[in-house]
Amino acid sequence: MRKGKLTSQDFTPKVVVPCAHADCKESAILSRKLPTGWANLCKTHDLFHVQRESDEFCRAQGLETYEQKRNWILAKLRAPRPTPAEHWAKVLETPGLIWQAYEMARNYFKRHPQALTNPTAFMTPIEDEETEAAFRAYLAETAIPESDSSPE
Ligand SMILES: [Zn+2]
Repeated sequence: MRKGKLTSQDFTPKVVVPCAHADCKESAILSRKLPTGWANLCKTHDLFHVQRESDEFCRAQGLETYEQKRNWILAKLRAPRPTPAEHWAKVLETPGLIWQAYEMARNYFKRHPQALTNPTAFMTPIEDEETEAAFRAYLAETAIPESDSSPE
């Protein structure tokens, strides 16, 4: 154990990354990809760029009023969600993601090999009782036990 008071030599100086805005004195908290490239930004300037990006998106979509923006979001929420298989297939065909994403996608298809050949199989609506019973039997037969309980 040490004895005596700590001196300034006991500390390594904190690395301060300046905000990319020339007139800004704050230190950056993150790096964000802007249309001009990656930039280190302080909290205030990060919010500034996020807001600007949102405004541009709304302008491009023709969303001007609060009501229009609200309706756009509600319609988006009502739209059908991709199945896990569709989601992980999309991940596999998207370049430039972190390697963990591809790893998780490959693990999903290892656990659910049938999802590779027919990603929308489980989205098909059931029309009648007979088909539904057959479908249940099919599911029971092809179900693969989960190796862990991690969410997909
Ligand atoms: Zn700043």
